[in-house]
Amino acid sequence: MMKIPFVSFEVMHKEIEYKMLDAFKRVYDNNWFIQGKECEEFEKEFAAYCGADYCVGCGNGLDALYLILRAYGIGEGDEVIVPSNTYIATALAVSYTGAKPVFVEPFIETFNINPALIEDAVTDKTKAIMAVHLYGQPARMDEIKKVAEKYNLKLIEDSAQAHGATYKGVKTGNLGDAAGFSFYPGKNLGALGDGGAIVTSDRELADMCRALGNYGSDYKYHHIYKGNNSRLDEVQAAMLRVKLHELDKWNKRRNEIAKMYIDGIDNEKVITPVTEPDMTHVYHIFGIRCDRRDELEKYLNDKGIGTNKHYPIPMHMQGAYADLNIPEGAYPIAEEISRTELSIPMYYGMTDDEAGYVIDMINSWK
Ligand SMILES: *Cc1c(COP(=O)(O)O)cnc(C)c1O
Repeated sequence: MMKIPFVSFEVMHKEIEYKMLDAFKRVYDNNWFIQGKECEEFEKEFAAYCGADYCVGCGNGLDALYLILRAYGIGEGDEVIVPSNTYIATALAVSYTGAKPVFVEPFIETFNINPALIEDAVTDKTKAIMAVHLYGQPARMDEIKKVAEKYNLKLIEDSAQAHGATYKGVKTGNLGDAAGFSFYPGKNLGALGDGGAIVTSDRELADMCRALGNYGSDYKYHHIYKGNNSRLDEVQAAMLRVKLHELDKWNKRRNEIAKMYIDGIDNEKVITPVTEPDMTHVYHIFGIRCDRRDELEKYLNDKGIGTNKHYPIPMHMQGAYADLNIPEGAYPIAEEISRTELSIPMYYGMTDDEAGYVIDMINSWK
């Protein structure tokens, strides 16, 4: 029996070990650990990679989204539209500002927000739309942008799962007013700890996010806002600079594995994900759907295959959002995804044989 973990850094990190250790030594010898050259260079490199003008490193993906919202002046009494199916960080970033997250259902085929339903959720309190490129596939940004423009709303990308993905040839991070990225280790571009970034071509926003993440300071000991401490440290920036060079190669391999899965999975009880023609997908997560999901999961685990669920409880049914008083059944598509989605192994370093084994096991499940 093969043993295939849900995710593994082994091959990825072995291949770049010397480069990573060299980069670490550069920081170590330089004796400068916060707000130095590595972060500055990474910011330039990542902005250029996304095709945007500015990048501001910060502590994590949640902070990136929160800092953008705060910099846009969103807070108490405001509403921000978020998908009903996403990682809870998307909604928490809104809640931290004092504003209210308003959920909009996704397409079940792509898991991404359905632009046609956004307009119904707009009220006179709505200030922004947070579009999530879930699992690594961009949301339908042109249609979302139309609603944003019609109601004069900020359009923010939650790009935490979509480093390098494109929509009509344009990279995520460059598809709205501003984007938040996460460099959590398991993300397609991951640090060796927490990290995040804001990407935008709005100079004023970039400056404000930088100040807000640095105690509200525009220059040393001069504080213009009641800011946070959320910065990307030199060690993580140095690690990310090495990894950014590999990202396209890693995403390409994820696409090869996804193609094998899509072509090979042939079990009438299992639905594979759909990629829309305008998009390139980076498969942060390969999510299949199955009515008897929990049985399939147990079967695969018994066959040595690691799995995960993204996400087992929708946000409106989490204790954290009990205050919103949203009953079960209010977001049936999000609930259906929570009940049926199963994430199967997807990582750089997975061999064709391993992908083949996952396919065979899914196909042999009765
Ligand atoms: C990971 C993630 C975040 C949060 O990033 P952290 O770095 O863990 O704070 C936000 N949104 C989505 C969709 C994510 O997957």
